[in-house]
Amino acid sequence: MSATHPPIPREGPPQADRVLFFDTTLRDGEQSPGCVMYGPEKLRMAHQIAALGVDILEAGFAIASEGDSESIRTIAREVGSAPRSPVIASLARAKREDIEAAARSIEPAARGRIHTFLSTSDLHLAAKLNITREQALDQIGAMVALACTYADDVEFSPEDATRTDPYFLVRVCEVAIQAGATTLNLPDTVGYCIPQGYGDMFRMVRERVPGIENIVLSAHCHDDLGLAVANTIAAIQAGVRQVECAINGIGERAGNAALEEIAAILVTRRDQLPYEHHIDMKQLYPTSQMLAECISFGTAPNKAIVGKNAFAHAAGIHQHGVMANPLTYEIMTPESVGVPSNSLVLGKHSGRRALEHRLVELGHALTHAQLDAVYRRFIELADRKKTIYDQDFIGLLKPERSATATA
Ligand code: MN
Repeated sequence: MSATHPPIPREGPPQADRVLFFDTTLRDGEQSPGCVMYGPEKLRMAHQIAALGVDILEAGFAIASEGDSESIRTIAREVGSAPRSPVIASLARAKREDIEAAARSIEPAARGRIHTFLSTSDLHLAAKLNITREQALDQIGAMVALACTYADDVEFSPEDATRTDPYFLVRVCEVAIQAGATTLNLPDTVGYCIPQGYGDMFRMVRERVPGIENIVLSAHCHDDLGLAVANTIAAIQAGVRQVECAINGIGERAGNAALEEIAAILVTRRDQLPYEHHIDMKQLYPTSQMLAECISFGTAPNKAIVGKNAFAHAAGIHQHGVMANPLTYEIMTPESVGVPSNSLVLGKHSGRRALEHRLVELGHALTHAQLDAVYRRFIELADRKKTIYDQDFIGLLKPERSATATA
């Protein structure tokens, strides 16, 4: 714990040493280009996101369309009705009709949350909403209070918080808390912050806003400068205990903070970030893969944690080291995040042992003589082809296939 900010309170809600994961794959994620999902795909993803162990699942923006509203209701009923299921959140502008639509959409959930928001930066107030700061405060107070008549669990987000005048932001937080908000999310809507500044904003409100120790503070970061995850970690270090994020980092523009990266950081760097969470790490890769099937793109090969190359070792020296002990070149094992195994990229520099290792992983245990024959064909192919993919082995194995056991 750094000496520059006060210790995190250990009493009362939120559980001080636990970070809550708020997944917005199906809301902020889904509203980005190429990520539109239909009802059945959203429901399939929602089941998987619940299995991943998130605490809150933001299922959509009820007022946006009849389809959105219906899919939130379905998720609330099918995924959110069991006692240990995630809280199902529904987004609403700070407007009566939005809040009423959000309230209806979460009715079937065992635990539902209304997440309402209003812009608070002077730029947004003038250019987008055409209201004064005083009008914004009145609207926040009234609409958070209205949301509280429909749900015990109400989150308020001052949109564009990071470009909001800090003195006004303190007033906004006070009004939202007095009106009954139980979670206060300060989003970096436009991805403008750098980590120190984002953390400082949370330290500032924790020092100045009365009653803030009784609510959950939340971070919501965008990756416009490639800092969404770094900013989220800075927020946790500044006392934030809810992180809003999306699988594969999908979301508006450059995306939201990637859930799998935040979870992996909390596990791998527990020495610096000693916080509990309920993410089932082995579900990270399967969830990432399922999302890629549902939307129109997967991750970049070099994407951290879930990219195709995230655990690939091409150099012979690295390959040898990893086979002897994965920790030589890996700070976490691929199995720990649900990746079937690290991939030793096989090419003409690879030896017989690496080939045998891969074949066994693929379910083909060969005799010594069979391995010799496959290895000869492999080296011939590797002279013509830079990288040998798993599917290439099918051709290499053909003559030996009838004799092999397939897992
Ligand atoms: Mn957002």
